[in-house]
Amino acid sequence: MGSAAKHNYLPAANPQPAFWGRDVDEFHNHRTTPELPQETDVLIIGAGYAGTATAWHLVKDRNPSKAKQTVTVLEARGICSGATGRNGGHLRPDLYGHIPTYIKRAGLEAAVELAEFEIAHVPALKQFIEQEKIDCDFVLSRCIDVWSNEEAAKNALQTYETLKGHSLAYMNDVFFKYGADAPGISGAKDAKATASYTAGMMWPYKFIRHVLKSLVASGDINLQTHCPVTDIKPEGDSFVVKTARGSIKAGKVIHANNAYVGGLLPEYASSIVPCKGICCRITVPEGKVAPAMTTSYIERDADKTLSYLIPRPDGSIVVGGASFLFKPNIHEWYDNIDDGVLIESAKHYYDGYMQRTFAGWEDSDAKVDQIWTGVMGYSYDSNSHIGAVPDRPGHYVIAGFNGHGMPVIWLSGKGLAKMINDDVPFEKTGVPRLLKTTKDRLERAQSGKEEHGDILGDGSVFPLGR
Ligand SMILES: Cc1cc2nc3c(=O)[nH]c(=O)nc-3n(C[C@H](O)[C@H](O)[C@H](O)COP(=O)(O)OP(=O)(O)OC[C@H]3O[C@@H](n4cnc5c(N)ncnc54)[C@H](O)[C@@H]3O)c2cc1C
Repeated sequence: MGSAAKHNYLPAANPQPAFWGRDVDEFHNHRTTPELPQETDVLIIGAGYAGTATAWHLVKDRNPSKAKQTVTVLEARGICSGATGRNGGHLRPDLYGHIPTYIKRAGLEAAVELAEFEIAHVPALKQFIEQEKIDCDFVLSRCIDVWSNEEAAKNALQTYETLKGHSLAYMNDVFFKYGADAPGISGAKDAKATASYTAGMMWPYKFIRHVLKSLVASGDINLQTHCPVTDIKPEGDSFVVKTARGSIKAGKVIHANNAYVGGLLPEYASSIVPCKGICCRITVPEGKVAPAMTTSYIERDADKTLSYLIPRPDGSIVVGGASFLFKPNIHEWYDNIDDGVLIESAKHYYDGYMQRTFAGWEDSDAKVDQIWTGVMGYSYDSNSHIGAVPDRPGHYVIAGFNGHGMPVIWLSGKGLAKMINDDVPFEKTGVPRLLKTTKDRLERAQSGKEEHGDILGDGSVFPLGR
């Protein structure tokens, strides 16, 4: 079974610059060898977070009793130029947002498994970043959730109480307050309820670049940027992978190209849909002051428009979201890979955002300094797809992370690498069962009939299916 990329599934040629790309160096366009290697044991498509996490664990967790595998990473543009290099930098485990849905869908044990997996990412990444001395502005912090709509605040309270009622140990890290104290605790002027829990923030591009540089420097991977994969054909028990720069023979292929995965694996086109999001950086002009922010936020305004926000060590704010505003304008974001064009109907939402949302910011003159868009891989049932591609021996997938990959991808990459290194089934990887890619999940998405997940992460659902 061969597969050729549909044209509209290759990353766009001219993405808008994101704030995180200000620190780009020559490694952005790195090619370990001037020509593509002729063959490789494992070929990874995509040099974002998923491709990098998988490459790291393939190399570092390899079984010393087995022969060393060669690993090649092919990236269509520069390194980390997809969603990872354009996101909000927020490492926020979901402790209760989607968990009630997953309890209904798959039971308490499966839902808790996913929550705990996300929570485990915070200490795992902190430890890894410290161990590898990665300069990526990592901060271990609290995330403050804010609900400024009365009805949404009451629903949040109910969810909190339901989860507490299950006596989940991890809920001990959640502080929740409904009522008049919410603005004073959260700093958000209109808050009707607020919560907080452990989370992190970082500069994703610097993190990925460091890991890739380290793998290249140790001779463990061959990285080829500006090398889009356009076709994969089986040949004997391996594959001929065609790229814009020639072909390479691969023993195994890992699809870590997230939003674009349906191009080379058409059976995923209904399960993982490219959808655009918006993000910006806000700064306070010199001579003006604003209150110091020390926590990250998930802020939902009175109209239920959701924003994710991190304060930066330089005093600026990175904030994005606003999907509630552009959701009706489907052509602007849904099944759309053009990260060279802003989402028109949301591009002014963050003008004056800090002033109208947070106490003490009214006279700050805070302004949007840079705004950009990025393409996510929205999953039909809102869970990522990890593991062996059904009915395609030798193909593996790690994709479909919605607007929420930071607390999911690192350990998913570790799990996928374990499948390949140790030849174990998905169930032995430590990756939550809800994330296993299966034929059943693909077919349910293709049928388009069933209820799908909260693809925008704002508590609403949207009629997917194609
Ligand atoms: C605006 C925005 C804000 C976000 N904010 C957050 C946040 O704050 N917290 C959070 O947890 N998540 C956030 N996300 C989501 C998060 O960024 C993603 O879930 C995560 O980065 C996905 O990583 P990835 O490696 O799977 O995908 P990507 O980073 O998109 O990497 C895929 C790579 O594959 C390459 N590629 C595609 N097709 C091919 C091909 N045919 N050949 C070769 N290479 C190919 C692409 O160029 C790309 O570099 C946000 C996303 C966006 C867009």
